[in-house]
Amino acid sequence: MIRFVTREFNGKTGLALVISDATASLQDLLDAIQPFSDDSTIYKEYLIDQHGTCRGCRINCCRQSFVIPDRVSFNNLINYFRLSPVEFLARYADPHKLSYGLPRFRSGPCVFLKDAMCTIYPYRPLICQLYLCTPMDGDTGELIYSVVSAGIAELIRYGQEQGFLPAWSTSSASSCGLPSQGSPTGYDRMFIKIIERWADNSSNPFCQVNSYTEIRLRDVCPPETWLRLVQT
Ligand code: SF4
Ligand code: SF4
Repeated sequence: MIRFVTREFNGKTGLALVISDATASLQDLLDAIQPFSDDSTIYKEYLIDQHGTCRGCRINCCRQSFVIPDRVSFNNLINYFRLSPVEFLARYADPHKLSYGLPRFRSGPCVFLKDAMCTIYPYRPLICQLYLCTPMDGDTGELIYSVVSAGIAELIRYGQEQGFLPAWSTSSASSCGLPSQGSPTGYDRMFIKIIERWADNSSNPFCQVNSYTEIRLRDVCPPETWLRLVQT
């Protein structure tokens, strides 16, 4: 129904998504990409010889991560740790980023990385589950980008609604609409622009769901991209 196939990108073996079932869920996408972290045949830019499993990676993207959880992952994590949203963020979020509204995990390395292993592996955010340092075609990348931004945007909307994240001002162009504390970096601003794609979108499929199985992939994908992916 949904699978990744290998494709050559300038002599490097990368991945392209093929969708043959219009009802495919986000969980189907996660199941399809998961095996490639252990796949040694595809190109992985940050491995020493560019081929191998993620388990043997010395660079390890978790060391330099910019991870903001999506709404489903966040709910799973606060339930797993038995913490309130405020308690969870106080313990695990970067206080500086949090002060201006971005619930980014503490990083450098990621606060959940211990002995080169992810300690929240079953509940890790979408951005972690969908990242590979492997070339992918533009439509696959666009879908992943859209999925991740929708999930994060819904967490931020929900957090603002519930009061555990500060509201963004719409009047301050100089701070990208963020509260005035702190100073967002260029990377933060880029992230914010991505999230803003969904900020006022009441059709965000991450609203009111508890699992990735409940999210239809087509509902989180730009329509033209979806048409190309299902026709591939
Ligand atoms: S995806 Fe991350 S862990 Fe895997 S090879 Fe690339 S940098 Fe290393
Ligand atoms: S949450 Fe887990 S997978 Fe994601 S960056 Fe942190 S340690 Fe790595």
